[in-house]
Amino acid sequence: MKKDIVIVGGGACGLVCGIFLAKKNKNVTIVEKNPTFAKKIIVSGNGRCNITNENISLKNYLKGDKEVINSVLNNFGFNDAKRLFSSLGIEFKIGEDGRVFPLSLSGRSVVEILLEHLKSLNVTLLANSEVLDVDKNGKSFLVELKDKKLKADKLIVCSGSTAYKSVGVTDIGYKIAKKFGHNIIDIYPSLVQIECSDRLVHRASGVKIYSKISVYDGEKKLYESKGDLLFTNYGLSGLAVLDSSFYISQAKDEVSLKIDLMPDISYKDLVLLFDKRLKLKDILGYESWLGAVIPKKLISLVTRSRVLNKKSIKDLAYNIKNLKIKVDSLRDEKYAEIIAGGIDSREIDSKTLESKKVKNLYFGGEVLDVAGERGGYNLHFAFGCGILMALGQF
Ligand SMILES: Cc1cc2nc3c(=O)[nH]c(=O)nc-3n(C[C@H](O)[C@H](O)[C@H](O)COP(=O)(O)OP(=O)(O)OC[C@H]3O[C@@H](n4cnc5c(N)ncnc54)[C@H](O)[C@@H]3O)c2cc1C
Repeated sequence: MKKDIVIVGGGACGLVCGIFLAKKNKNVTIVEKNPTFAKKIIVSGNGRCNITNENISLKNYLKGDKEVINSVLNNFGFNDAKRLFSSLGIEFKIGEDGRVFPLSLSGRSVVEILLEHLKSLNVTLLANSEVLDVDKNGKSFLVELKDKKLKADKLIVCSGSTAYKSVGVTDIGYKIAKKFGHNIIDIYPSLVQIECSDRLVHRASGVKIYSKISVYDGEKKLYESKGDLLFTNYGLSGLAVLDSSFYISQAKDEVSLKIDLMPDISYKDLVLLFDKRLKLKDILGYESWLGAVIPKKLISLVTRSRVLNKKSIKDLAYNIKNLKIKVDSLRDEKYAEIIAGGIDSREIDSKTLESKKVKNLYFGGEVLDVAGERGGYNLHFAFGCGILMALGQF
């Protein structure tokens, strides 16, 4: 008798798991809450879908059990990902920092291809089918949907996290895990924007500038990153901010950012540049004089003075390279790309991702407490979990 396998969640992890199980001739049903499968793949990387990274290693994971992450990456490294995408027909290209994107630069095209493989393998795909609860009946699981119950000999939970609510997320994975005795480790948003109440920051809304950001926990420097910084009407966004957010969430004291708004020019050279421009100070108004060097909307953030002389230009250069901004909080999970935290991965068998507490119950992907950096590491982990769970069925 073929065993019935039900996968909860038709996202990155669930779809790839379904393909590998069906190739091994398993009877698979994927149950997806939304009318559209894998919405997070579709929105990922601003729609361009950064699917993996050429330089992937354990170092790119900020949280989660090392044994589990290593097991997933050893079974599915970058070369395996390349082979998988080629065999599925997903053409890709490698961009800056080893980031890998589909050649189409479209997450939607990736999802379409995964679904067509699943259909050709006769996997049952149930869209618009929210899993409300799961029970155990003897050796089987009973998966409760709105209008029916599915029986499963094996249950694979890859229902993702509660990050980015607009794509229709639920906390069913955490609920199932708790029900079967698993521990959930601090759920908090990561790869997320920052709120700060400084009105001068809000007034600079719309300015995007390449910067170096250092995160301070009191006096202690926790992290430094370079990248785009975007001023908004609630605080700060941009890639450098998203990268900093995990470290901000770890801070114990008051958190502040020290921002170098011109990281590609040294303090000394900036003073020299200003010194050279001093001869123009009686012709140009202050805003035009400084607005030729930094965006005008940032002027009030870096100086209150309108005096230009040998001393004031040194202060100005210092402030541009050392802008301090107090962080009030991270934005909440509805804006976050991922949740750092989730089902305790130490309670999951690293070789198969089967629960150490309940036989035939598996957890994979972002529902676990594993959190990767930005750069393709989270999708890679989700794909890798899907494959490992499928291989573990033999
Ligand atoms: C805006 C944004 C941009 C991102 N960009 C990138 C990127 O470029 N690169 C990268 O590596 N990562 C990126 N990520 C993170 C990445 O998308 C996730 O880590 C990854 O999709 C997790 O895969 P998963 O299969 O574990 O979960 P998901 O992809 O979230 O899939 C879970 C599925 O389960 C379904 N589900 C939930 N509850 C139920 C229920 N009760 N019943 C039935 N189905 C349910 C969901 O609808 C969903 O389809 C981004 C995330 C966001 C939000």
